[in-house]
Amino acid sequence: THFGFETVTEAEKIQRVAGVFTSVAESYDRMNDLMSFGWHRIWKDHFVSSLNPGFSPLTPGPDPRAPQHILDIAGGTGDIAFRMLHTAHVVNANPDVRVTISDINPAMLSVGRQRAQDQLPASQQAAITFVEANAEDLTRTKPLTSPPAPFFDASTATNRIPDASVDLYTVAFGIRNFSNIPAALREAHRVLKPGGIFACLEFSKVDKHPLFNAVYKRWSFGAIPLIGQLVAGDRDSYQYLVESIERFPSQEDFRDMIVDAGFVVGGQGYEDLTGGIAAIHKGMKP
Ligand code: SAM
Repeated sequence: THFGFETVTEAEKIQRVAGVFTSVAESYDRMNDLMSFGWHRIWKDHFVSSLNPGFSPLTPGPDPRAPQHILDIAGGTGDIAFRMLHTAHVVNANPDVRVTISDINPAMLSVGRQRAQDQLPASQQAAITFVEANAEDLTRTKPLTSPPAPFFDASTATNRIPDASVDLYTVAFGIRNFSNIPAALREAHRVLKPGGIFACLEFSKVDKHPLFNAVYKRWSFGAIPLIGQLVAGDRDSYQYLVESIERFPSQEDFRDMIVDAGFVVGGQGYEDLTGGIAAIHKGMKP
Protein backbone atom coordinates (compact mmCIF):
# COMPACT_ATOMS: atom_id res chain seq x y z
CA THR A 1 0.00 0.00 0.00
CA HIS A 2 1.23 3.49 -0.73
CA PHE A 3 -0.52 6.32 1.03
CA GLY A 4 0.20 8.84 -1.72
CA PHE A 5 0.36 11.64 0.83
CA GLU A 6 1.87 13.99 -1.74
CA THR A 7 -1.49 14.38 -3.40
CA VAL A 8 -3.85 14.63 -0.43
CA THR A 9 -5.26 17.79 1.09
CA GLU A 10 -4.44 18.98 4.60
CA ALA A 11 -7.82 17.85 5.91
CA GLU A 12 -7.30 14.39 4.43
CA LYS A 13 -3.85 14.16 5.95
CA ILE A 14 -5.25 15.02 9.40
CA GLN A 15 -7.87 12.28 8.97
CA ARG A 16 -5.32 9.69 7.93
CA VAL A 17 -2.87 10.53 10.70
CA ALA A 18 -5.76 10.27 13.16
CA GLY A 19 -6.59 6.84 11.78
CA VAL A 20 -3.01 5.65 12.06
CA PHE A 21 -2.57 6.69 15.69
CA THR A 22 -5.99 5.50 16.78
CA SER A 23 -5.20 2.07 15.43
CA VAL A 24 -1.65 1.91 16.85
CA ALA A 25 -2.39 3.45 20.29
CA GLU A 26 -2.65 0.17 22.20
CA SER A 27 0.42 -1.42 20.62
CA TYR A 28 2.41 1.80 20.32
CA ASP A 29 4.82 1.37 23.24
CA ARG A 30 5.63 -2.26 22.48
CA MET A 31 6.13 -1.55 18.79
CA ASN A 32 8.55 1.30 19.49
CA ASP A 33 10.82 -1.11 21.30
CA LEU A 34 10.66 -3.72 18.58
CA MET A 35 11.19 -1.40 15.65
CA SER A 36 14.07 0.59 17.10
CA PHE A 37 15.72 -2.25 19.09
CA GLY A 38 14.99 -0.15 22.17
CA TRP A 39 17.03 2.77 20.83
CA HIS A 40 14.10 5.17 21.17
CA ARG A 41 14.51 4.94 24.97
CA ILE A 42 18.15 6.00 24.75
CA TRP A 43 17.29 8.88 22.41
CA LYS A 44 14.48 10.05 24.70
CA ASP A 45 16.71 9.82 27.80
CA HIS A 46 19.38 11.84 26.04
CA PHE A 47 16.86 14.41 24.77
CA VAL A 48 15.46 14.98 28.26
CA SER A 49 18.81 15.08 30.06
CA SER A 50 20.17 17.54 27.49
CA LEU A 51 17.26 19.86 28.39
CA ASN A 52 17.76 19.34 32.13
CA PRO A 53 14.20 20.34 33.11
CA GLY A 54 13.76 21.88 36.54
CA PHE A 55 17.15 23.52 36.47
CA SER A 56 17.29 26.97 34.94
CA PRO A 57 20.62 28.71 35.47
CA LEU A 58 19.58 31.36 32.95
CA THR A 59 16.54 32.46 34.91
CA PRO A 60 17.22 35.92 36.37
CA GLY A 61 17.69 35.77 40.12
CA PRO A 62 19.63 33.53 42.42
CA ASP A 63 17.30 30.52 42.29
CA PRO A 64 18.10 28.01 39.54
CA ARG A 65 15.05 26.04 40.64
CA ALA A 66 12.44 28.47 39.42
CA PRO A 67 8.97 27.19 38.46
CA GLN A 68 8.70 25.94 34.89
CA HIS A 69 5.87 25.13 32.56
CA ILE A 70 6.74 22.49 29.99
CA LEU A 71 4.44 21.89 27.04
CA ASP A 72 4.91 18.45 25.49
CA ILE A 73 3.29 18.58 22.09
CA ALA A 74 2.21 15.37 20.35
CA GLY A 75 2.92 13.88 23.76
CA GLY A 76 1.01 10.68 22.97
CA THR A 77 1.43 8.05 25.64
CA GLY A 78 3.63 10.24 27.84
CA ASP A 79 7.18 9.01 27.29
CA ILE A 80 8.74 12.48 27.17
CA ALA A 81 6.52 14.09 29.80
CA PHE A 82 7.14 11.33 32.35
CA ARG A 83 10.90 11.62 31.86
CA MET A 84 10.69 15.42 32.19
CA LEU A 85 8.86 15.15 35.48
CA HIS A 86 11.26 12.58 36.86
CA THR A 87 14.30 14.70 36.02
CA ALA A 88 12.71 17.89 37.34
CA HIS A 89 11.09 16.57 40.52
CA VAL A 90 13.52 13.81 41.51
CA VAL A 91 16.94 14.50 39.94
CA ASN A 92 16.76 18.30 40.20
CA ALA A 93 14.52 18.32 43.29
CA ASN A 94 12.30 20.99 41.77
CA PRO A 95 8.62 20.23 42.45
CA ASP A 96 7.52 23.50 40.80
CA VAL A 97 7.68 22.03 37.32
CA ARG A 98 4.41 21.24 35.55
CA VAL A 99 3.95 19.46 32.26
CA THR A 100 1.07 19.81 29.85
CA ILE A 101 0.76 16.81 27.55
CA SER A 102 -1.00 17.82 24.39
CA ASP A 103 -1.96 15.55 21.50
CA ILE A 104 -4.49 15.63 18.69
CA ASN A 105 -5.48 12.02 19.32
CA PRO A 106 -7.72 11.07 22.26
CA ALA A 107 -6.84 7.36 21.96
CA MET A 108 -3.12 8.06 22.47
CA LEU A 109 -3.93 10.42 25.35
CA SER A 110 -6.10 7.88 27.11
CA VAL A 111 -3.28 5.32 27.02
CA GLY A 112 -1.07 8.10 28.46
CA ARG A 113 -3.54 8.88 31.25
CA GLN A 114 -3.77 5.24 32.23
CA ARG A 115 0.04 4.91 32.26
CA ALA A 116 0.35 8.04 34.40
CA GLN A 117 -2.08 6.55 36.93
CA ASP A 118 -0.28 3.22 36.97
CA GLN A 119 3.32 4.39 36.96
CA LEU A 120 3.70 7.84 38.51
CA PRO A 121 3.72 8.91 42.16
CA ALA A 122 0.76 11.10 43.12
CA SER A 123 2.87 14.27 43.25
CA GLN A 124 3.90 13.80 39.62
CA GLN A 125 0.38 12.89 38.52
CA ALA A 126 -0.78 16.16 40.06
CA ALA A 127 1.76 18.08 37.97
CA ILE A 128 0.42 16.80 34.63
CA THR A 129 -2.43 18.18 32.58
CA PHE A 130 -3.73 16.39 29.50
CA VAL A 131 -5.19 18.44 26.67
CA GLU A 132 -6.44 17.53 23.23
CA ALA A 133 -5.21 19.98 20.60
CA ASN A 134 -3.87 20.30 17.10
CA ALA A 135 -0.29 21.57 17.38
CA GLU A 136 -0.99 23.94 14.52
CA ASP A 137 -3.61 25.82 16.55
CA LEU A 138 -3.09 26.04 20.30
CA THR A 139 -5.78 28.68 20.66
CA ARG A 140 -8.51 26.03 20.87
CA THR A 141 -7.54 23.19 23.16
CA LYS A 142 -9.71 20.72 25.00
CA PRO A 143 -8.57 19.99 28.56
CA LEU A 144 -9.15 16.36 29.53
CA THR A 145 -8.41 16.62 33.22
CA SER A 146 -10.05 18.82 35.80
CA PRO A 147 -9.41 21.27 37.22
CA PRO A 148 -8.18 22.80 33.97
CA ALA A 149 -4.56 23.83 33.79
CA PRO A 150 -3.83 27.18 35.43
CA PHE A 151 -2.67 28.68 32.17
CA PHE A 152 -6.04 28.37 30.47
CA ASP A 153 -7.50 31.77 29.87
CA ALA A 154 -10.78 31.92 31.78
CA SER A 155 -11.52 35.45 30.59
CA THR A 156 -11.97 34.36 26.98
CA ALA A 157 -13.17 30.85 27.84
CA THR A 158 -11.40 29.67 24.71
CA ASN A 159 -8.87 27.42 26.37
CA ARG A 160 -6.24 29.27 24.40
CA ILE A 161 -2.72 28.57 25.53
CA PRO A 162 -1.68 32.17 26.14
CA ASP A 163 1.18 33.94 24.42
CA ALA A 164 4.51 33.77 26.27
CA SER A 165 3.34 31.26 28.88
CA VAL A 166 5.65 28.29 28.29
CA ASP A 167 9.29 27.84 29.35
CA LEU A 168 10.05 24.72 27.34
CA TYR A 169 8.23 23.32 24.31
CA THR A 170 9.02 19.72 23.41
CA VAL A 171 7.90 17.59 20.49
CA ALA A 172 9.23 14.05 20.03
CA PHE A 173 8.49 11.94 16.95
CA GLY A 174 5.44 14.08 16.32
CA ILE A 175 6.24 16.96 14.02
CA ARG A 176 6.69 14.90 10.86
CA ASN A 177 3.01 13.97 11.13
CA PHE A 178 1.81 17.57 11.10
CA SER A 179 0.20 18.77 7.89
CA ASN A 180 1.46 22.33 8.31
CA ILE A 181 4.83 22.37 10.06
CA PRO A 182 5.45 26.14 9.66
CA ALA A 183 2.08 26.81 11.37
CA ALA A 184 3.08 24.57 14.29
CA LEU A 185 6.44 26.36 14.57
CA ARG A 186 4.65 29.73 14.64
CA GLU A 187 2.41 28.47 17.45
CA ALA A 188 5.47 27.22 19.35
CA HIS A 189 7.01 30.66 19.01
CA ARG A 190 3.80 32.36 20.16
CA VAL A 191 3.31 30.30 23.35
CA LEU A 192 6.96 30.37 24.45
CA LYS A 193 8.25 33.06 26.77
CA PRO A 194 11.19 35.14 25.56
CA GLY A 195 14.22 33.00 26.42
CA GLY A 196 12.05 29.87 26.18
CA ILE A 197 13.30 26.82 24.32
CA PHE A 198 11.81 24.89 21.41
CA ALA A 199 13.17 21.32 21.36
CA CYS A 200 12.37 18.62 18.84
CA LEU A 201 13.39 14.96 18.65
CA GLU A 202 12.55 13.43 15.30
CA PHE A 203 13.64 10.77 12.83
CA SER A 204 16.06 12.28 10.39
CA LYS A 205 18.46 11.56 7.54
CA VAL A 206 21.38 9.10 7.54
CA ASP A 207 22.65 10.50 4.20
CA LYS A 208 26.11 11.29 5.59
CA HIS A 209 26.83 7.54 5.97
CA PRO A 210 25.93 5.81 2.66
CA LEU A 211 26.59 2.23 3.74
CA PHE A 212 24.72 2.53 7.04
CA ASN A 213 21.98 4.35 5.16
CA ALA A 214 21.55 1.40 2.78
CA VAL A 215 21.16 -1.04 5.68
CA TYR A 216 18.80 1.32 7.51
CA LYS A 217 16.58 1.80 4.43
CA ARG A 218 16.29 -1.95 3.93
CA TRP A 219 15.34 -2.39 7.55
CA SER A 220 12.78 0.35 7.63
CA PHE A 221 11.08 -0.29 4.29
CA GLY A 222 11.37 -4.08 4.51
CA ALA A 223 11.03 -5.11 8.12
CA ILE A 224 8.99 -2.42 9.84
CA PRO A 225 5.75 -2.86 7.85
CA LEU A 226 6.17 -6.62 8.27
CA ILE A 227 6.64 -6.38 12.05
CA GLY A 228 3.61 -4.06 12.10
CA GLN A 229 1.61 -6.70 10.31
CA LEU A 230 2.77 -9.61 12.46
CA VAL A 231 2.75 -7.96 15.88
CA ALA A 232 0.08 -5.29 15.64
CA GLY A 233 -1.92 -6.75 12.76
CA ASP A 234 -1.64 -3.41 11.00
CA ARG A 235 0.72 -3.18 8.06
CA ASP A 236 -0.65 0.05 6.59
CA SER A 237 -0.09 2.21 9.67
CA TYR A 238 3.53 1.14 9.93
CA GLN A 239 4.02 1.61 6.20
CA TYR A 240 2.77 5.17 6.73
CA LEU A 241 5.25 5.72 9.58
CA VAL A 242 8.17 4.67 7.38
CA GLU A 243 7.03 6.86 4.50
CA SER A 244 6.54 9.86 6.77
CA ILE A 245 10.17 9.56 7.91
CA GLU A 246 11.30 9.49 4.28
CA ARG A 247 9.35 12.65 3.44
CA PHE A 248 10.52 14.69 6.44
CA PRO A 249 13.12 17.41 5.60
CA SER A 250 16.85 16.99 6.17
CA GLN A 251 18.50 18.23 9.36
CA GLU A 252 19.64 21.42 7.61
CA ASP A 253 16.31 22.16 5.93
CA PHE A 254 14.38 21.63 9.17
CA ARG A 255 16.83 23.88 11.03
CA ASP A 256 16.18 26.59 8.43
CA MET A 257 12.43 26.25 9.02
CA ILE A 258 13.00 26.75 12.76
CA VAL A 259 15.05 29.88 12.06
CA ASP A 260 12.37 31.14 9.65
CA ALA A 261 9.83 30.86 12.49
CA GLY A 262 11.89 33.37 14.50
CA PHE A 263 14.06 31.13 16.67
CA VAL A 264 17.76 31.57 17.30
CA VAL A 265 19.83 28.40 17.02
CA GLY A 266 23.29 27.69 18.40
CA GLY A 267 26.08 26.17 16.28
CA GLN A 268 24.74 24.05 13.41
CA GLY A 269 21.36 23.97 15.16
CA TYR A 270 20.98 20.24 15.54
CA GLU A 271 22.55 17.10 16.97
CA ASP A 272 22.56 13.76 15.13
CA LEU A 273 21.77 10.62 17.13
CA THR A 274 22.87 7.17 15.94
CA GLY A 275 24.29 8.47 12.67
CA GLY A 276 21.26 10.65 11.96
CA ILE A 277 18.50 8.03 12.36
CA ALA A 278 17.16 10.61 14.77
CA ALA A 279 18.15 14.23 15.42
CA ILE A 280 17.55 16.84 18.08
CA HIS A 281 16.84 20.41 17.00
CA LYS A 282 16.72 23.29 19.47
CA GLY A 283 15.91 26.94 19.12
CA MET A 284 15.51 29.82 21.54
CA LYS A 285 12.83 32.47 21.28
CA PRO A 286 14.75 35.75 21.56
N1 SAM B 1 5.87 12.01 21.75
C1 SAM B 1 5.44 10.63 21.92
C2 SAM B 1 6.63 9.72 21.97
O1 SAM B 1 7.73 10.19 21.70
O2 SAM B 1 6.48 8.53 22.26
C3 SAM B 1 4.43 10.21 20.83
C4 SAM B 1 4.92 10.22 19.42
S1 SAM B 1 3.79 9.51 18.27
C5 SAM B 1 4.89 8.75 17.09
C6 SAM B 1 3.19 10.87 17.34
C7 SAM B 1 2.04 11.59 17.97
O3 SAM B 1 1.76 12.78 17.22
C8 SAM B 1 0.73 10.81 18.00
O4 SAM B 1 0.30 10.65 19.31
C9 SAM B 1 -0.22 11.66 17.16
O5 SAM B 1 -1.56 11.62 17.61
C10 SAM B 1 0.38 13.04 17.33
N2 SAM B 1 -0.02 14.02 16.31
C11 SAM B 1 -0.10 13.84 14.97
N3 SAM B 1 -0.51 14.97 14.36
C12 SAM B 1 -0.66 15.90 15.34
C13 SAM B 1 -1.06 17.29 15.35
N4 SAM B 1 -1.35 17.93 14.22
N5 SAM B 1 -1.11 17.93 16.53
C14 SAM B 1 -0.80 17.29 17.68
N6 SAM B 1 -0.42 15.98 17.74
C15 SAM B 1 -0.36 15.30 16.58
